Amino acid sequence: MNRILSSVVFARRIFRKEAEHPRGLFEGLKAYRTQDGNIVLFRPEENALRMRAGAERMCMAAPTVEQFLEAVKEIVLANERWIPPTGKGSLYIRPLLMGSGSVLGIAPAPEYTFLIYASPVGNYFKEGLAPINLVIETDFHRASPGGTGGVKTIGNYAAVLKAHTAAKAQGYSDVLYLDCVHKKYLEEVSSCNVFVVKDNVISTPAIKGTILPGITRKSIIDIACSLGFEVVEQLVPVDQLLSADEVFCTGTAVVVSPVGSITHKGKRTSFGDGKVGRVAQQLHTALTRLQMGIAEDNMDWIVKLK
Ligand SMILES: *Cc1c(COP(=O)(O)O)cnc(C)c1O
Repeated sequence: MNRILSSVVFARRIFRKEAEHPRGLFEGLKAYRTQDGNIVLFRPEENALRMRAGAERMCMAAPTVEQFLEAVKEIVLANERWIPPTGKGSLYIRPLLMGSGSVLGIAPAPEYTFLIYASPVGNYFKEGLAPINLVIETDFHRASPGGTGGVKTIGNYAAVLKAHTAAKAQGYSDVLYLDCVHKKYLEEVSSCNVFVVKDNVISTPAIKGTILPGITRKSIIDIACSLGFEVVEQLVPVDQLLSADEVFCTGTAVVVSPVGSITHKGKRTSFGDGKVGRVAQQLHTALTRLQMGIAEDNMDWIVKLK
């Protein structure tokens, strides 16, 4: 009896995993405590819309924008005491959408769970705003044209874990991926987008389905344009790194992270002599001043919770 029972439990567990794994979407955003005592979110409706776009691609049911925003606000206010003081960190919010139910074949899941985790966080990279060291991956790819690299599905992280773990073991901060067709154009880093600076021009790979359309990326493009930089979204060949003045990454978790070096096929290219690049610094300051409530929110990006 015991044996049968335990094998039933085992079968159920295996089955549940199979049903849930292929369908999972996540989001990431932060709640900040501003200088004047407000609690704010940065463009949360963008996260809601991105989850809906992802759900459409993955054949999942998704919360409406209103349901998403309501749930995020509720979780932040319920965890208010865990939001770090201004400038000391933020409350990271991780909405999750999972499919489950009795399906073994290829079919949409009959049930969905939308849940949200929250956790106080400091800096993503232990280096802080100090430059990070990236390695270009030439064997593994995170996405392919027509695939799901452009939506925030849990599978994207599973695909990069092996390369990411190996890079970490060799002392790198993260991995920079190349396109899987030509193996020569920059795509992005495991969990953030990449920008390359030359003189007054900032280039970043265009959104074509294989890179994640970062909300920080989009915001930094607007901020850079308003500061007088020329921003171009185009193919960025890996060779362009050799002549770049600066390289930096953007994402909710990493904010704006300057890149100190990139290693490609064993050859290391350094930027900025270990110092934070001028453009990365300027953009980091502009973005964080907005999020901390210091700069005026001309773009209407800040949602006040209290
Ligand atoms: C979440 C994520 C980003 C950054 O997106 P933001 O909206 O700026 O946080 C970039 N790349 C990948 C692969 C991601 O999962």
